[in-house]
Amino acid sequence: MAGYDIRLIGDPVLRQTAREVTDIDGALVRLVDDMLETMYEAPGMGLAAPQVGVQKRLFVWDVGPGPEAIVNPEIVESDGEWVFEEGCLSVPGLSWEIVRPKMVHIVGRDLDGNEVSVEADELEARLFQHEMDHLDGTLLIERLDADTRKIALKTIRDLQLGVGGPRPDGGGLTLL
Ligand SMILES: [Zn+2]
Repeated sequence: MAGYDIRLIGDPVLRQTAREVTDIDGALVRLVDDMLETMYEAPGMGLAAPQVGVQKRLFVWDVGPGPEAIVNPEIVESDGEWVFEEGCLSVPGLSWEIVRPKMVHIVGRDLDGNEVSVEADELEARLFQHEMDHLDGTLLIERLDADTRKIALKTIRDLQLGVGGPRPDGGGLTLL
């Protein structure tokens, strides 16, 4: 196994739409192992393939019970509203209160190619929505209102958090 460098805001790979996975094979399983290692090392609770420069629709996560991975995920249902202080491994050291649906139902495939269906609430639901955004080339700052986003972008510039900049300590933030 080998850890990846996590791509940071400003890297064009984070703005592209990832492609459907067509083959669930040994190479994909190795990719998932390496992504999990990268996620735990960071440390973070979730990591989408584009964050390690791979344009495939898959992400990994662990909200406590152990490592999980989903391939070609789709949100089929969402409900409610929940405010949560959200951080991202690709925008290190910062977090914002973001409102998103409280509950989501996600479907996709596991690494054996079997259909999976997960109904998630609160933190896990938040993680799913955040990682789905990564697969569509969307970063959490785009979920902020226009004024907050302007301030966020200035902070990111001032701290030079993007490509080539420092990698601050995550310091207790929930990083997805
Ligand atoms: Zn993220």
